[in-house]
Amino acid sequence: MSFETLGLHESLLKAVREAGYENATEVQAQAIPAALAGADLMVSSQTGSGKTAAFILPALTKILASRADNDKRRRAGEGPGGDRVRGKVYGPRILVLAPTRELAMQVAKAAQTYGRHIPGLKVATVLGGVPYGLQIRQLTGPLDILIATPGRLIDHIESGKCVLENVEMLVLDEADRMLDMGFIDDIHFVAGRTPPTRQTVMFSATFAGSTGRLAQELLKEPQRIEV
Ligand code: AMP
Repeated sequence: MSFETLGLHESLLKAVREAGYENATEVQAQAIPAALAGADLMVSSQTGSGKTAAFILPALTKILASRADNDKRRRAGEGPGGDRVRGKVYGPRILVLAPTRELAMQVAKAAQTYGRHIPGLKVATVLGGVPYGLQIRQLTGPLDILIATPGRLIDHIESGKCVLENVEMLVLDEADRMLDMGFIDDIHFVAGRTPPTRQTVMFSATFAGSTGRLAQELLKEPQRIEV
């Protein structure tokens, strides 16, 4: 299916064209319109299916929408309209949890690639095994998308360097692997710090057993997508 019919903003379509993609993959064709409509999603799909773009493109759409809102407020003279104070911890609008550093870095790269025409897009990663200093600098000040492995994110939350009160979309990538790695309590802790009004999107090879229970706990009337 063509990307043009999925309801994406022109700046994202441009980036997708520049990436050389001709058509949306199956998971993209199903998940993108559902996510844009605001639904919580349980998506079963494998690595290599194009699942990263299936959640990053709707996430970038949320960033574009909030930029447009801020511009409108600023033009109408209604307060700061999103002007931000340097050094303050605002936290991300989009939070992606991933099981490993490698996967988190791939997601960050995809966010930069598809978001390349969004001026000033701020993408940060919080990964274990990396010095704290740079991560803390990225967490203070404006931040659109944060991609994190659960353990290190909790360190930053507990030290007050990361707040999640502005999260509009929570993505769990490869949820079954995160549970296999023992991150269940960490995921609950992190999700509990995000607003209950958030949209939640969960990707997993399977939704059997504990992964299915986690979906029940975190998702509201989820739409199920299996490809
Ligand atoms: P993923 O399943 O997200 O790890 O993506 C697997 C690979 O497919 C990545 O290298 C993407 O760059 C590529 N890809 C994602 N979407 C498309 C598409 N619609 N057409 C062609 N390649 C794609």
